[in-house]
Amino acid sequence: MTSTAFSTLSLSAAMQTNLKALGYQAMTPIQAHSLPVILRGQDLIAQAKTGSGKTAAFGIGLLEPLNPRHFGCQALVLCPTRELADQVAKEVRRLARAMNNIKVLTLCGGVPFGPQIGSLEHGAHVIVGTPGRVQEHLRKGSLKLDSLNQLILDEADRMLDMGFYDSIAEIIGQAPVSRQTLLFSATYPRGIEQLAATFMKSPQQIQVESLH
Ligand code: ADP
Ligand code: MG
Repeated sequence: MTSTAFSTLSLSAAMQTNLKALGYQAMTPIQAHSLPVILRGQDLIAQAKTGSGKTAAFGIGLLEPLNPRHFGCQALVLCPTRELADQVAKEVRRLARAMNNIKVLTLCGGVPFGPQIGSLEHGAHVIVGTPGRVQEHLRKGSLKLDSLNQLILDEADRMLDMGFYDSIAEIIGQAPVSRQTLLFSATYPRGIEQLAATFMKSPQQIQVESLH
């Protein structure tokens, strides 16, 4: 039986306090199963339905080891659309509220490059973006992934449906080999298997059926 209290995890006091303030009393099943794996630093493939709390699972997992004094991109979250990237960035900012000065930047298409390049020059700890725009910043040299510790593929099945395999592969190719890779998906099509086999290190697989 998996315990669902956040206090069973060794989270920072700031994170514990903030989770209480957000009204998150217990972990959802996907959080209870995935957080111990994520916090250990292992690669993970997690399959769970919409609304099961996947964002907070990887959000807590990426914020806990973050070094606020280093302004390089330490965690990169790839999402299929700008709307989803905005939602993820919002949730990560909420989770980071009790931490000092964590900068979360979104990089999505359909807007000019100039302001994004300006924000990148100021530095960001966490970047949430769509594969096409992130790939363009890497090609321009405005984004570097030397400090990356965690790469998160959110809604990976949808990103593959949208034809982002090659962009994702190019982005991962620029990330340090030592990184942790987390893949979240509602379904498990063949493309995901291929991504996992090519880019992940002995990933732990978790599947949660029920919503709560
Ligand atoms: P998913 O990405 O799996 O579709 P989300 O991460 O968007 O789901 O989460 C769905 C909702 O659940 C969000 O409104 C979020 O704030 C809320 N939520 C996440 N974790 C918890 C928790 N442990 N307790 C209460 N609410 C939570
Ligand atoms: Mg989600």
